[in-house]
Amino acid sequence: MKKRSRVETAKNSYAEFIKGTMEKPAVRTLVLCDFDGTIATNDMGYDVISHFAGEGWGEINRAYCADEIGSMEAYRKTASLFKVSREEITRYVLDHVTVDDHFGEFASFCRDSGYEIKIVSDGLDFYIDAVLKNIGLDDIEFYSNVLIFEDERRVSVEFPGLNSECLKCGNCKSSILEGYRSSYDMIIYIGDGYSDICPAQDADLVFAKSLLYNKLKERGKECIHYHGFGDILLYLKARNNGT
Ligand SMILES: [Mg+2]
Repeated sequence: MKKRSRVETAKNSYAEFIKGTMEKPAVRTLVLCDFDGTIATNDMGYDVISHFAGEGWGEINRAYCADEIGSMEAYRKTASLFKVSREEITRYVLDHVTVDDHFGEFASFCRDSGYEIKIVSDGLDFYIDAVLKNIGLDDIEFYSNVLIFEDERRVSVEFPGLNSECLKCGNCKSSILEGYRSSYDMIIYIGDGYSDICPAQDADLVFAKSLLYNKLKERGKECIHYHGFGDILLYLKARNNGT
């Protein structure tokens, strides 16, 4: 048997090292992103409800803000006050929404980096759908509560993402995160509000602002404060470049 020279052994080791590097699987990264106050810089759900629900909504909002009722109950009570068509309410949304200036660039960055991005919202599907279509990003999957347009300008709300063991939020974002946990190596969470507190605590990297930032700080959960997607882009680009 021919004995391998030291040079051959080194060459083989190097080739194996390169092969190993190339075969190393990429980190599967999921970005879960809130909608109201995050992608939309205004709270579209609040704006729509306060505009269309009319009298009776003030008391529902007070009870929700005082934590006496959860968002599911607040939505159910509010829906009974609505008298509006899909066309009318969608026109209002597109006239009043403001989208973060850097969200489109952020979505492109995620695509180029191999990050999956999904929207998780305790808001309503019709306005998320209308806004994403309007900015040409309706290929992004989203999870939310569902507004059903009935006849005679009546509406009702359905909660496909409800967690029956909790009932606080209409759409339980923690359950969505947990459902994806085994499919990804890293889950990044971006949000600002009440319904983001539970899922953010289970995420690997969190960008938080407003109420979410304060609540996570109180609970000792590490998070990065941001003002908009421009800040998040700067952070993730620097992180990817190892700087
Ligand atoms: Mg929000």
